[in-house]
Amino acid sequence: MKREIRRISIFDEFQCAGQRCSINCCQGWKIPINHDVYMKYLHEKGLFGTKLRIFLKRGEQTASFRSPFGRCPFWGNDRLCSIQKKHGENYMPAVCVQFPRQLYNLSFFCEETLYLACPEAAKLFLACADSDKPFEYHIIEGVPEYEVNTTNDDKNFLDYLVKSRAELTAMLRDGMNFDSMAILDYGREAQSACLNMATADYGRDKQSACFNMAVSDNVRGGQAACRAGGGLPSPRDYSSEECYTIGIEEINKLFFEGFYHPNLSVISNFLHKLCKKYIREVGILGRLNPGAADKKLRALQNGLYQKLPGLDKMLNRYFEYYLLTNFLDIYEDYSFTRCLRYGIVKTKMVMLFLALYVENKDSIEREEIAKIIAVYERRAPQMKDALKKL
Ligand code: SF4
Repeated sequence: MKREIRRISIFDEFQCAGQRCSINCCQGWKIPINHDVYMKYLHEKGLFGTKLRIFLKRGEQTASFRSPFGRCPFWGNDRLCSIQKKHGENYMPAVCVQFPRQLYNLSFFCEETLYLACPEAAKLFLACADSDKPFEYHIIEGVPEYEVNTTNDDKNFLDYLVKSRAELTAMLRDGMNFDSMAILDYGREAQSACLNMATADYGRDKQSACFNMAVSDNVRGGQAACRAGGGLPSPRDYSSEECYTIGIEEINKLFFEGFYHPNLSVISNFLHKLCKKYIREVGILGRLNPGAADKKLRALQNGLYQKLPGLDKMLNRYFEYYLLTNFLDIYEDYSFTRCLRYGIVKTKMVMLFLALYVENKDSIEREEIAKIIAVYERRAPQMKDALKKL
């Protein structure tokens, strides 16, 4: 069925760097294999078919390739995919063809964005951010070739989220900091309004009516609405001079109980080295002398500001991009607080990795920033569980 497809402006500019890629996507990840491709591989003839079957592994829910050396077994020494070379792109697992494209089918419409875990995608993000261009969605009509990713069918709530996201990104572009407490205050109240509605309307069919109220232009003054258990608030109703801060204790928890793993070098040697630097210079110090570690963190941050004067703007754009790619996850779990807090923390932590990298350098180039963002994005989701413990 035809759908409206909202495609982010940098999407069509993406081109895989192939052999030239500094941190290839075939390394450090399990490659899931969709059913059709699995069946195709089972019936492939000849030596190549034997090799495919040797490395195929059938799990309970999905199949994947075994990766004994921490990398896809079909990634050749020439840094190219041997499946693609032999049979073309259509013969590859769907996830390999798609990466770094994020294809999100919300049933009423689709959104197509780029995952910044690819350095070429990160470069496109940075070019757009540096030139102060907005990330726009280009709207096309088409039949999506990917499945619906949600179980929710509440169109009014989805419309409310899209509207709220547009308001949040506009507020960021108007000068609000990505770590403003206003964002978290909004998230907390929106979540509690959802909970109020769910409780009040349990067993009755009023939820849609509430969401209709919430998206109406006439409904403003969200905090009052929440207290009354009525509509959902608008981000525009919140402002704050305060910022959300995290100190060394929280950073260490996120790092040691989430981000870091001793085998990180399998994903990226480059990232592993940055992590080791953190442990050596900050992490251990944080356990022994938190005051001195906080001081070291501030020194790292100041050094980064000197070498990257546009840092604040870049971080705001990074959080803005996070909202564009992740805010609609709330459609599935109604967890405003988790989504917004993770986005803020994720943005703060990328600053830490940039600061560690640049400490002994005179300057930092866009290519280097893109590489740091790309490797960081691959591990950042591991911080979500640690974040719950803060
Ligand atoms: S990470 Fe991006 S540029 Fe590198 S090989 Fe994968 S898709 Fe291509």
